[in-house]
Amino acid sequence: MQTPYGKECHYFYGDYYRGRHHEECRLLDPLISSSQWTSKLCKNCPVPGILRANSCEKMVLKGEINQGILGIGKSMKISAYCIKSEKVVTDPYVGCGLCHPLSDIIFKDK
Ligand code: SF4
Repeated sequence: MQTPYGKECHYFYGDYYRGRHHEECRLLDPLISSSQWTSKLCKNCPVPGILRANSCEKMVLKGEINQGILGIGKSMKISAYCIKSEKVVTDPYVGCGLCHPLSDIIFKDK
């Protein structure tokens, strides 16, 4: 589903049917999503870009809300884990490198 900022994110859910205005981030724990999250956090969230860059099904994303200082700079903090290599993925845009080694990506057309 598209976020209010026009980016595709499969964790975003919005229900606007018949005047409703219910939005959720399904990457977060439901309690946190309902109490602390607003769709304003989608504006600078890296998840839509990560999902576009890396569609590996073995990579699991985890989201938290970085509260910032006195609410200023509140943002999404994303971490990633690969269930195949059982490693933390340091760069979720690229992946852990087990299934898709960087050399395969760089030298793909050679
Ligand atoms: S905060 Fe990020 S992960 Fe959550 S719905 Fe918005 S774009 Fe998707």
